[in-house]
Amino acid sequence: MLELNYWCELAWLPPGEVVAGVVVGVTGSRISDITPGVARPPTGAVRLAGLTLPGLANAHSHAFHRAMRGVTEREKGDLWSWRERMYGVAAVLDPDSYHRLARATFAEMALAGITCVGEFHHLHHAPGGRPYDDPNAMGHALVEAAREAGLRIALLDACYLTSGIGVPLTGTQLRFGDGDSGRWAVRAEELLDVYRPADDVEIGAAVHSVNAVPAEQLPVIGAFSHHHAVPLHTHVSEQRTENAGCVEVYAASPAQVLGDHGALGPRCTAVHATHLSDVDIALLGQSSTYVCVCPTTERDLADGVGPARALFDAGSQVTLGSDSHAVIDLFEEARAVELDERLVTERRGHWTAAELLQAATASGHASLGFPDAGMLVPGAWADLVSVRLDSVRTAGTAGDDASEAVVFAATATDVHSVVSGGRHMVREGRHVLGDVGAMLAEAVAEARGE
Ligand SMILES: [Zn+2]
Repeated sequence: MLELNYWCELAWLPPGEVVAGVVVGVTGSRISDITPGVARPPTGAVRLAGLTLPGLANAHSHAFHRAMRGVTEREKGDLWSWRERMYGVAAVLDPDSYHRLARATFAEMALAGITCVGEFHHLHHAPGGRPYDDPNAMGHALVEAAREAGLRIALLDACYLTSGIGVPLTGTQLRFGDGDSGRWAVRAEELLDVYRPADDVEIGAAVHSVNAVPAEQLPVIGAFSHHHAVPLHTHVSEQRTENAGCVEVYAASPAQVLGDHGALGPRCTAVHATHLSDVDIALLGQSSTYVCVCPTTERDLADGVGPARALFDAGSQVTLGSDSHAVIDLFEEARAVELDERLVTERRGHWTAAELLQAATASGHASLGFPDAGMLVPGAWADLVSVRLDSVRTAGTAGDDASEAVVFAATATDVHSVVSGGRHMVREGRHVLGDVGAMLAEAVAEARGE
């Protein structure tokens, strides 16, 4: 197995401290040892300038939304034109074109320091809802795309049965549906059988939302997650209309409906969790359900600002997602958690940079079924994300405040080197696959039907 030493000018080590001169020994895909206080790079070690972080986890992604960036902002970019664009892209893709779009999107993530993606996958079937010859052809395309781009993937296979509560799927939405949760489970089991032996792929379950899965179908999905000990992710209370519709039918909030049907708990992630009551916050926190906030998407879609700190204090670990990929930059997501809360409360000081980095790294990975990633410790996945401290955004930063400068001022562009699972995927800001901008341009044009 390949053994290699990396020397980090500065490294972010547990429990959230910046340490100078750290040698990270890597054997194969894992960290073998960590030695702090080494003033100069040892002979043969790869030098990593700036601040080296563990791998970032993008805990909520819809890869195909990358094709909508920009065009959804035309005119004044209302929600209906956004939805129309989304269905337009979803209508065009097939396993080959989805593979190309996802590979380019995941490569953009790798350039931003992301070493693991939680892909919330519901574009399963061919137009009209007809299964492909292999009913998981689209899922396989996403896994291959992640591997080629150098990311681990949690493929969160989403059950999506109705357009709204009691409203059948129509048009492009037919591609999302399996008919009922029993048939969804059969297809998801097949995915599990294929990828269970692989340590770089986790197959998880997902409930699109209480709008898209009738309450009586939920226990099958919860049972799948518990039986196989895999993650279960679900959109929860992203917008007020979702809550209103749910209360009308069930006389309960989305979080309550999910809790009553066995979906919440330490394997579960509630995505967004924007519009919650105090009861909902207690329910999510006391059940140790993760909460994935996606601030750049939530502001893009005018969702609102969720009670992230209250959820954290109640017992929910917070994770981050770029979701619709309006931008792909986890530093932007991380600082928005604090900065949005400042705007809402007219008060500073809700989160430390270390807590936000924890959300971007270890918590995110754990929520995706990779509890052995997102931290620089022996035995963990060998993910090393190095951020420049000499760019125009970060220059002037001393070692003591390097993590604060990175969280509050760096952008994805400042990531200059990414080692992911022992593979050196990004060097000097360039991905091993080559010109990712050109790959994106081609794949996005194809997905838009141009
Ligand atoms: Zn989403």
